[in-house]
Amino acid sequence: MNQFPIVLSAPSGGGKTTVTKLLMQRRADLGYSVSCTTRPPRPGEVDGVDYLFVTEKQFIEHRERGDFAEWAVVHGKFYGTLKSAIATVLEGGKHVMMDIDVQGAAQFAAIWPGAVLIFMLPPSVEVLLGRLQERNTEDGSTLLTRLKSAHAELQVVSRYHYVLVNDDLETAVARVSSIIDAEEVKRERIRALDSQLSGLIATLDLEIKRHS
Ligand code: ADP
Ligand code: 5GP
Repeated sequence: MNQFPIVLSAPSGGGKTTVTKLLMQRRADLGYSVSCTTRPPRPGEVDGVDYLFVTEKQFIEHRERGDFAEWAVVHGKFYGTLKSAIATVLEGGKHVMMDIDVQGAAQFAAIWPGAVLIFMLPPSVEVLLGRLQERNTEDGSTLLTRLKSAHAELQVVSRYHYVLVNDDLETAVARVSSIIDAEEVKRERIRALDSQLSGLIATLDLEIKRHS
């Protein structure tokens, strides 16, 4: 199996959800890891699709059972990736897209060194603020919390393998897609490369003998 997890992080409003949804529509080889959260659903969000919306008690039960591959408190709410969510996607033969924060990304990278870590930067703080306000899902205090988190998140971008700016949406989606394409042909990920090479070399030996 050479499917791998792809972790996409960005400050809140950075475009993770938008980019991930477009990628999922366009690439049949991707599945989404639906996270658990204790934050309430936003208008239009569907339980089991966008998140598994759980109570704090349910979250803690999962945590105590060791169900999470990683978990963190983000903007004052619990968020976590269920090990089963990752396994389901990978066993279905797809790469797994994870939209998780920087704390979760660090935990996950420690247990899954083959994961691809991508960070998306906003073109500017003004644009980030504008997008958050346009999305209109945060009240004043939540907005402030998200800006403070963004400040902290930008300090740890060096942990990521790839960094891109989400300026033009189509360009950002294309960049993430190209990263996935490149990772698929990374030498270490190619299944049975040694036997493939031995086969080619053995045939070449025969041909060299035949032609000499
Ligand atoms: P995140 O999931 O990282 O919090 P979202 O995907 O919800 O961010 O994006 C925040 C807002 O910015 C949304 O209203 C989205 O439509 C908008 N947005 C995201 N990327 C772009 C882009 N490249 N250009 C313009 N608007 C964007
Ligand atoms: P939002 O509430 O805007 O959907 O997400 C807030 C933040 O929580 C984002 O940075 C998002 O990436 C992060 N997040 C979502 N799911 C998870 C998860 O399962 N684990 C962790 N650690 N962070 C998550």
